[in-house]
Amino acid sequence: MSFMTPMIVVATGNKGKLAEIQATAQGAGLDYTFRAIFDLLPDWTSPVEDGDSFEANAMIKARAGFEALGLPTLADDSGLAVDALDGAPGVYSSSFGGVEGDDARNNARLLDELAAVPEGQRSARFLSTLVLVGLDNLLPDAPHTITATGACEGSIGFEAAGEAGFGYDPLFIPATTPDRTMAQLSMQEKNAMSHRGQALQNLMDTLHQL
Ligand code: IMP
Repeated sequence: MSFMTPMIVVATGNKGKLAEIQATAQGAGLDYTFRAIFDLLPDWTSPVEDGDSFEANAMIKARAGFEALGLPTLADDSGLAVDALDGAPGVYSSSFGGVEGDDARNNARLLDELAAVPEGQRSARFLSTLVLVGLDNLLPDAPHTITATGACEGSIGFEAAGEAGFGYDPLFIPATTPDRTMAQLSMQEKNAMSHRGQALQNLMDTLHQL
């Protein structure tokens, strides 16, 4: 980290996400330092994510960080959209099974809801939106808000497989790896094609052009 490296705060408590962001930025040759908001503000309370879209929720988190610190703040929101369920669980992905953050319950409900849906009609995608607020505080010519999105197409299997990753990964079969679920991919394989990986790449491309 050089003395003058511009800092971007990341409004997440997830160390895995922070590491992924740092690695993607480094791979893209971008000279920014990313710091988790909890390192700078240990008492930080994440705001209620009551938006009706991934972008709205990412915006809520990024704005809150920027307002608290006055530093450019990046936030993400993501989830799963299943076509046979009209896009559900969507922004409710983390609480679909009734208990916030309970992956086992979320996966059980998903399998339940799709029990009668045959192969070929189980298409789904992971979606990710990143919002960066306040970069114009560092770079006067930069826009105040930058948004980037990513999607990973696939389908929902009939049973869980794999141990890696988190969330719906054991049920999600990426279109590019039809013989393996997302939870059967290495972290490098997942990051290279995941919704978040693509959104990050798109964000880095935008930052490069500034
Ligand atoms: P978050 O916005 O990254 O916290 O994700 C919200 C929810 O979407 C998580 O609790 C998971 O249920 C689901 N989700 C998001 N990204 C992934 C992923 O890469 N794999 C599996 N599930 C995910």
